[in-house]
Amino acid sequence: MSDLAEIILELQRCDTVLISVHKSPDGDALGSQLALMHALEKLGKSVTAHNLDPAPEIYRFLPGSARIKTGSPVAGRYDAFVVLDSEPSRTGLFDGRYPADTLIDIDHHITNALEWKLSWLDPDASATGEMVYKLIRGLGVAIDRNVALCLYTAIFTDTGSFRYSNTSPASMRISAELIEAGANPWLVTENVYESYAYRRLKLLGIVLAGMERSEDGRIAWAVVTSDLYQQTGTTAEDTENFVNFLRSVKGVEVAVLLRQTAEAQYKISMRSKGRVDLTGIARSFGGGGHKNAAGGVLYGALEEVKNRVIREVDKAIETQVGKVSVIGHGRYC
Ligand code: 5GP
Ligand code: MN
Repeated sequence: MSDLAEIILELQRCDTVLISVHKSPDGDALGSQLALMHALEKLGKSVTAHNLDPAPEIYRFLPGSARIKTGSPVAGRYDAFVVLDSEPSRTGLFDGRYPADTLIDIDHHITNALEWKLSWLDPDASATGEMVYKLIRGLGVAIDRNVALCLYTAIFTDTGSFRYSNTSPASMRISAELIEAGANPWLVTENVYESYAYRRLKLLGIVLAGMERSEDGRIAWAVVTSDLYQQTGTTAEDTENFVNFLRSVKGVEVAVLLRQTAEAQYKISMRSKGRVDLTGIARSFGGGGHKNAAGGVLYGALEEVKNRVIREVDKAIETQVGKVSVIGHGRYC
């Protein structure tokens, strides 16, 4: 039996379901979570959505987002616990003991360590939302406007608005169906990409002004310190996607954004243009992700952490792309 078929059977048997996603949830995580919540409720199940961190403001238009509980600990016991868009440990909610007998993990990150027996992993899915679409279909639930909006947001954000290499015929076809079912593309765009806080753009200006690159121009990086958050009245949620601006520089193979999360602790976000696989570096930091988008957390002083990441990225570029580059001409040997 396929993992999907087994998950369908398990969920059909359960009455109470807890759904969680990873720390610092993004559009795919939240869209997938809320879509599955609505679909299971249509089957008469009692569903609790609970994450460690609150949903960023730009995703609060998603139907049901106000119902997501946050913080730790999680109360109660459930028939099933479903983790979406990450491995269970990255929910940050439990210490290896979970409040359900049936444990289900659904994810598209190739670095997922498959902690649970019932882990459905599809690295070819553009978004976890694409997998949840198949699950909801498999459960025989009709896709209404709310579910369509949530799933469309999941796929739209994880494909970088259908621009990244994970954009596929399947993601386009499913999205077309979701629009037919009532998802309004502009509503999603306006909320997610055209409603930034003023302070966010001010912060972006400062971060880009501080951008640096390696001598050969193949690595670009920038840092967001706690002081800068304080100065500008911003938080980490105001920096989502900043790293993509760094990658967009001609000649850059890999971009790195370092965001301070504590005194000697930095969240690392890496983006590749496609010639360098970042999963190895992310894994070596105890993190994970996809080939072209990966991250993790590093501990130490800023200079030390920064140099370590740049050194690792430089090594990866040398081994995977080659030694010589011509800045700005898009030619690589
Ligand atoms: P971001 O840079 O946007 O935080 O993350 C890029 C990709 O790497 C996302 O798919 C995200 O899920 C994954 N990722 C980022 N940080 C971590 C981490 O600490 N652990 C794992 N397993 N994945 C991460
Ligand atoms: Mn995702």
